[in-house]
Amino acid sequence: MTASAPITQDVMTIPRKEDATLGKPNLVGLTRDGLRDALIAAGTPEPQARMRVGQVWQWIYHWGVRDFAAMTNLAKDYRALLADSFQISLPEMVSRQVSADGTRKYLMRIAGGHEVETVYIPEADRGTLCISSQVGCALDCAFCSTAQQGLQRNLTAAEIVSQVWFAIRTLVDELGKERPISNVVFMGMGEPLANYNQVITAIRLLQDDLGFGLSKRRVTVSTSGLVPFMDRLSADVDTALAVSLHAPNDALRNELVPINRKYPIADLIAACGRYTQRDRKMHIVYEYVMLDGVNDSDDNARELARLLRHMPAKVNLIPFNPFPQTRFRRSSPERIEAFANILRRNKLMVTTRRTRGDDIDAACGQLVGRVASRQQRRLSDIPVRVAP
Ligand code: SAH
Repeated sequence: MTASAPITQDVMTIPRKEDATLGKPNLVGLTRDGLRDALIAAGTPEPQARMRVGQVWQWIYHWGVRDFAAMTNLAKDYRALLADSFQISLPEMVSRQVSADGTRKYLMRIAGGHEVETVYIPEADRGTLCISSQVGCALDCAFCSTAQQGLQRNLTAAEIVSQVWFAIRTLVDELGKERPISNVVFMGMGEPLANYNQVITAIRLLQDDLGFGLSKRRVTVSTSGLVPFMDRLSADVDTALAVSLHAPNDALRNELVPINRKYPIADLIAACGRYTQRDRKMHIVYEYVMLDGVNDSDDNARELARLLRHMPAKVNLIPFNPFPQTRFRRSSPERIEAFANILRRNKLMVTTRRTRGDDIDAACGQLVGRVASRQQRRLSDIPVRVAP
């Protein structure tokens, strides 16, 4: 754990909602069409609406502007019209923790008193932001601490992209990098495909050149295997896909990832095959949490290799991250290595995920974001100042 500098005031200052802004439609999180309709309804001449959408998007997402007055390529009268009609509202970021390894965990408070966690993982050649799509999760995977919460609610597209918006704003200052985030992964709290429409809108905002401008395949959706939505995803957007496999056969996967009882492995693997058909160079990353004595034997590895033999696959082994009251233990590094070697001998690409940020409970499966868990937060918690 490291001591960390306070977040700079200008970036993190959250203006108090003035009464005048209450009730006005929020422009954050609208689709292109949704924003176009809203601008027209407020009096934007129809022939100009398309261009105005691009300008407003760029101000909000690319430049991080929250004040219509700062949108200087729009006429003054038009800025006033927008300010009268709309608000640009992002949820409050309430704290940030910095791990000894540079990983950062952000906590965002959203309507309903919920808290959402977002994790930034810096690496030499990239910066990955791991975002949440739901508060809690309904899927009940046996080894995941988010599951213990059950599903509280879906995040809106605005709440999903706000995580990226805030992280960029703080990181640009802290790291002095113009583009601190190169990759966004839906591997925080929640099952993204169970919140389909909001997640799709968010992905479009992330990938649009006038939005956050991320490269398409640098946005990764991670799913426990909601098969029908995997097909829809591939029809609607172009993103990378990670699949939480965690077991090579139905008997074991039924226990670890209960959604398997609805969409068993054969159906899941067939859906993965369809997903990669769009592009011969595309791979799916299969996530496999390493649980001591549960799914980490040589036999399990051989069975996994057989299962993925004909698939464009990379396997990502994730050392289990423990949390209170779990019955699982992490496999030893030697076991993980032996498991990986069996897969490699069978010509699979394998990586082992380095555990990052576990000193601040920011590692995979440790995100809970509950108000109750705040009592346990460490001294490095940084309260975010609120403007008077
Ligand atoms: N619902 C999505 C995103 C979940 S989080 C999904 O299932 O893919 C991203 C990854 O972390 C998933 O592969 C998930 O299974 C894994 N994970 C969950 N709990 C974990 C834990 N305690 N230790 C290690 N990985 C975990």
